[in-house]
Amino acid sequence: MNIPFFDYPSIYKRFEKDFDSIFKDVCSRGAFILQKDLKDFEESLADYLDVSHAFGVADGTNAMLIGFKALGFAEGDEVIISPHTYVATAGALHMAGATPVFADIGDDGLLSASSAKTKITARTRAIMPTQVNGRCADMDSIQIVAKEHGLLVLEDSAQGLGARYKGQSAGTFGPFGTLSFYPAKLIGCFGDGGAVMTNDDEMARKLALWRDHGRDEAGNILSWGTNSRLDNLQAAFLKLRLKHFDEDVSRRRDIARIYHESLNAIECLQLPPPPVEGGSHFDVYQNYEIASERRDDLMEFLKQNGIGTIMQWGGVPVHHFTQLGFGKDKYNDLPKADRFFERCFMLPMHMGLSDEQVDYVIEKILEFHKN
Ligand SMILES: *Cc1c(COP(=O)(O)O)cnc(C)c1O
Repeated sequence: MNIPFFDYPSIYKRFEKDFDSIFKDVCSRGAFILQKDLKDFEESLADYLDVSHAFGVADGTNAMLIGFKALGFAEGDEVIISPHTYVATAGALHMAGATPVFADIGDDGLLSASSAKTKITARTRAIMPTQVNGRCADMDSIQIVAKEHGLLVLEDSAQGLGARYKGQSAGTFGPFGTLSFYPAKLIGCFGDGGAVMTNDDEMARKLALWRDHGRDEAGNILSWGTNSRLDNLQAAFLKLRLKHFDEDVSRRRDIARIYHESLNAIECLQLPPPPVEGGSHFDVYQNYEIASERRDDLMEFLKQNGIGTIMQWGGVPVHHFTQLGFGKDKYNDLPKADRFFERCFMLPMHMGLSDEQVDYVIEKILEFHKN
């Protein structure tokens, strides 16, 4: 069997006919920029997340950048982030002129509120967990620390569409939240795409201006801005995917449950928590990231057996990037993140996976651990 880590063509093939007719429809209307399909998608997305405003933007990185700009972040402002994130979180802060500061992760792999607390300075403006792999951080603890110190709570929820904490959607906790529609994300488009959400009307006004050159709907320039618009065509495709997203989530949770039931007995494997009903976390399994002491051998064994796995972000945590002014010497106080990145990698987890393929992955992992 050959199981690629991610099956890109399957995104298109799954709804090929519908996508083709959407393409024809949108293109023959000549509706390319800031048109009705985008508005429709934004409304569906806002409804889905139970948030007042959602704006389609260029990608998940720009969603954060626009959010930081709308908050007026500037030189000297510090934001505490997780090292278990994509370089984009730090990059967007840097582009806004602010400084990313890393705190450690907890045993759950998500930003630790108690570690974040030790990183607060007079310049700290916000604590910003990454809702990585489709699971929310412990938002209660983070909100308590933020409140004690008068800080904002922000989220990089690029991987969090549909994830909930105590019933509240990822990406709706702070003054703004973000999503990415990169093809391999929970709902991916055919290229780059993202969204920024808010419950605050004034913030919404600013976000809308930032994504379109500071122009209001009449075309008047009211402030600085940039071009970060989600293509109307991509929005039309995404609207279809959002309509099927609950099915996707339940399929992903099924796969996670099967992985968990079958692999949990292997003591040297660290697995994500299984899906639960009615608990504080509702997880959507953007990824199935596991950790093993024997990672490199296990990945090689799976590769020999036709199973694609990858280390998220190349296996190097952001705080190790010396080229960006970070590095192991500067950040030698994040032991849990360092340990995790020595052992973590991801199993196939996507909508193109069949039951037979999931069983095969499990069979091979069990086989590896027999000896
Ligand atoms: C994908 C991702 C981003 C960036 O999203 P793009 O749409 O690729 O710009 C940011 N943060 C995290 C955690 C991501 O996984």
